[in-house]
Amino acid sequence: MTSAAHTARLLIVGPQGSGKGTQGVRIAESFGVPVVSTGDVFRANVKDQTPLGVKVKAIIDAGDLVPDELTSEVVRDRLAQDDAAEGFLLDGYPRNTGQVAHLDEFLTGRGESLDAVILLDVPREESISRLSQRAQEQGRTDDTDEVIAKRLEIYERETAPIIDVYAERGIVDTIDGVGSLDEVNARIVAALEARGLVRQVTA
Ligand code: ADP
Repeated sequence: MTSAAHTARLLIVGPQGSGKGTQGVRIAESFGVPVVSTGDVFRANVKDQTPLGVKVKAIIDAGDLVPDELTSEVVRDRLAQDDAAEGFLLDGYPRNTGQVAHLDEFLTGRGESLDAVILLDVPREESISRLSQRAQEQGRTDDTDEVIAKRLEIYERETAPIIDVYAERGIVDTIDGVGSLDEVNARIVAALEARGLVRQVTA
């Protein structure tokens, strides 16, 4: 059981280039919850050359996954902060079934559970073309063709199976990710509202 007063506990999942980062920020804002993006946390630490950043830089640049225990610790610390007490939107975590088990343990310990898992569905060709565009615009060091291919392969092998786990719990909303940002946003909002989740900001 989750507490009656909470806002929304969400996870957004989709292949690289599905637009989940952009949509995640907008949905989190609408539902009044913080975004917890492991990719962003790792990148900020790499940039600031913190001990965590130094540890994970080579792993991220190669497109490999940071070890589960380390990643889960980062997320637990973040979710323990006050602003995540009533809700949050996870982006990029959990990314494999081991991390699902870690998250379950943490949330169960707090008497909480996820309300919805938003799966952004985008065809392979579309996500690849969006990624190469992002590579030109943002210059992410892990956006080379070779590393993108590895990240997509890891997504299929390790991340896609977590959808089945959550689908069994009846909390997955599969959203067509092709369309304008506003169109996709409206589809997600409609799906979450159909679950009884309430927007805090409607602008
Ligand atoms: P993308 O989904 O486009 O690959 P992210 O910003 O989500 O990008 O993640 C970038 C990198 O950060 C990943 O390739 C991986 O090295 C690391 N990372 C992010 N989230 C996780 C996670 N949950 N577990 C392990 N590594 C992660």
